[in-house]
Amino acid sequence: MPKTVSIAIDGPAGAGKSTIARRLAKELGYVYVDTGAIYRTVAYFFDTWGISPKDIDGITRYIDELNIDIWYDEDGLQHMYMNNIDVTDDIRTPEISQKASLISAHAIVRDMLLDMQREVAEQFNVVMDGRDIGTVVLPNATVKIFLTASAEVRARRRTNELLAKGKKVSYEQVLKDIQQRDYQDTHREVAPLKMCRDSVKLDTSDMDIEQVLQEMKNIIARKVTP
Ligand code: C5P
Repeated sequence: MPKTVSIAIDGPAGAGKSTIARRLAKELGYVYVDTGAIYRTVAYFFDTWGISPKDIDGITRYIDELNIDIWYDEDGLQHMYMNNIDVTDDIRTPEISQKASLISAHAIVRDMLLDMQREVAEQFNVVMDGRDIGTVVLPNATVKIFLTASAEVRARRRTNELLAKGKKVSYEQVLKDIQQRDYQDTHREVAPLKMCRDSVKLDTSDMDIEQVLQEMKNIIARKVTP
């Protein structure tokens, strides 16, 4: 039996995983692990080296040059370091989203990140979000939740989020990106995005954040005794 508690939250891009997971972790006093940010850091690294996310030879040759560190500030915000450089903000662009989706399809990349993710969950109680947490990273997670929403709702939320940050994006473009990532993430051979049999599905299309949060707390309370 694992000594720590782990809440695995999987689902497609823009389903609200990170917003919800961060709030949940704060309320429960757990560590929030945003695994998408780790894949984004890998994508950003190869982007700065001018290596295409599809260039498996280049990735294989240079992957050992990449050192990733994760650090949490006092607000529980996860900072990503690429070879000692804080890239937390740089990895949040539509280009890096696409490249992360492509680069994460390679087994060599996924293998490299697997232990890093598992080690955090062995040491701390975690809320971990991603695409393969319940299926591959933490198959024995205490609670598994699959968070989803229609592509249109996810695109609308993501567009508003990016506009609020001052990024120039259009709803149509964000929707196209999301649909493309959905396709890539569910069709790759290694650790594709899919719901596992023992996870609880939550469609948030018609729910606001507070409703989703309450529903998740109910699901967790059934499995985790304080
Ligand atoms: O969650 P986020 O949108 O930041 O993830 C970026 C990309 O990283 C996803 O589109 C997905 O391809 C990849 N990813 C993954 N496995 C995870 C987390 C993210 O393949 N556990």
